[in-house]
Amino acid sequence: MAEKFLNYIGGEWVEPSTGEWYENRNPANWDEVIGLFPRSNEEDVNRAVAAAKEAYKEWRLVPAPQRGKIMQKIGDLLVENKEDIARDMTREMGKVILETRGDTQEAIDTAYYGAGESRRLFAPFVPSELPNKFAFTMRVPLGVAGLITPWNFPSAIPAWKMFPAIVSGNTVVIKPATDTPYTVLKLAKIMEEAGLPPGVVNVVFGSGSKVGIPLVEHPDTSIISFTGSVDVGKDIAERAGRYLKKVSLELGGKNAVMIMDDANLELALNGVLWGAFGTTGQRCTATSRLLVQEGVYDKFIDMLVDAAQNLKLGNGLDESVDVGPLINKGQVNTVHSYVEIGKSEGAKLLCGGEPATEGELEKGWFYKPTVFADVSPDMRIFQEEIFGPVLSVSKFKTFEEGAALLNNSAYGLSSAIYTENLLYAMRAARDFEAGITYVNAPTIGAECHLPFGGVKNTGNGHREGGWTVYEIFTDWKTVYVDFSGRLQRAQIDDAE
Ligand code: NAD
Repeated sequence: MAEKFLNYIGGEWVEPSTGEWYENRNPANWDEVIGLFPRSNEEDVNRAVAAAKEAYKEWRLVPAPQRGKIMQKIGDLLVENKEDIARDMTREMGKVILETRGDTQEAIDTAYYGAGESRRLFAPFVPSELPNKFAFTMRVPLGVAGLITPWNFPSAIPAWKMFPAIVSGNTVVIKPATDTPYTVLKLAKIMEEAGLPPGVVNVVFGSGSKVGIPLVEHPDTSIISFTGSVDVGKDIAERAGRYLKKVSLELGGKNAVMIMDDANLELALNGVLWGAFGTTGQRCTATSRLLVQEGVYDKFIDMLVDAAQNLKLGNGLDESVDVGPLINKGQVNTVHSYVEIGKSEGAKLLCGGEPATEGELEKGWFYKPTVFADVSPDMRIFQEEIFGPVLSVSKFKTFEEGAALLNNSAYGLSSAIYTENLLYAMRAARDFEAGITYVNAPTIGAECHLPFGGVKNTGNGHREGGWTVYEIFTDWKTVYVDFSGRLQRAQIDDAE
């Protein structure tokens, strides 16, 4: 019998009020059950929010640098446990061990960055227009933060929400994705061990409808931070809007790489392979469109198809494997249906296009790296996020035409250009409609201390990561101190 795991509420590990659990299985080998996780509901959310609200009374008064010391300890414990967390993350999520180590490292970096930021929550002191009067600002926490996370970065995304939220003095209720509960459970255990007071972080496992929606609609959650799909993001924004809650949304992408005739093609090839097929294409920043200038189009496609066919699929714990499985059967069906759509739209299928089922792959959700050529912008595979190892390639003549193709998208998360020409690189930085632009590097590879997010349907204007995430998890308070000993009237006593 697989181990039964519990919710973490008010510093206690507790059973779900439903008395029900669900199975979490390894997508590379579905015979392996990682564990049984609570199928919680609104009652559990209510308890968790109540615990977070209670803990907030004390936590908001803890000096930020003291919160930062706990963050430092969390970072140290993550370092100690990095390999163990990475291995279990590969078991529950499927991506290769190299990447799950990277995912864990991002949580470590975010913890240490948070420890530093705890001493740097700067707020301007501004001259008052009246004599004997001070005016200054403060950053204050918001209260209880409701966090909802996806499965593709099981430790990095929860960490980049939880850590700045608690450094800022908020308390937290997190609902991890149903496919990757184990990693968040392990993070919670580390946070407990690091000495985080009870109730500062609470974890409620379960579905979007039974746990996610009640968390969004709970009157005592002051901010919702969500990373996931556009449709769910819009639903959350609508529901939270009725309560006038602050909402930070990090949503999908349809990221493009543009390769100019003058590019270093070997470098571009490595970047495109890593961007398109790393994490089996299941990154919000994955390269899913490739735009190649006509002079190198045929040559680059040959190089690309040859390399894509040679990628090794398998269990991500095997260090020689390049590409792990998709997260679940639903994702295999989605990817395959897009392949059928691409074929019916007239795109040219050059490789892949089917599940991989040879030998040991038979027991997992594997899909062959897929490349479509001659894709035009009116095709659905050019426009819609597939979230799998499917790359659509299109040809362009001039920089302007390529940039227009790149910008022909409802999304705007990441983008990249390969060129040796500084002028093209600078124009890309200025003209690409995206939150992130890389020059001579793939669309993936964000660093934790820089703002992360996108334009258009990719979000609602916030940037998590970097210093900007502290804007999300704090409010501004303005304080006026009049020490003149008399009534001073702004705009009246000092008027001309
Ligand atoms: P998803 O939207 O299906 O689910 C995300 C989370 O929301 C899960 O925890 C899910 O249980 C929960 N949820 C589902 N319905 C809900 C509802 N109605 N109310 C509240 N919560 C609900 O996304 P996913 O399949 O887990 O992740 C893939 C998506 O996430 C892709 O679109 C990808 O681009 C996006 N993503 C974006 C970023 C980014 O930073 N921009 C990062 C990673 C993933």
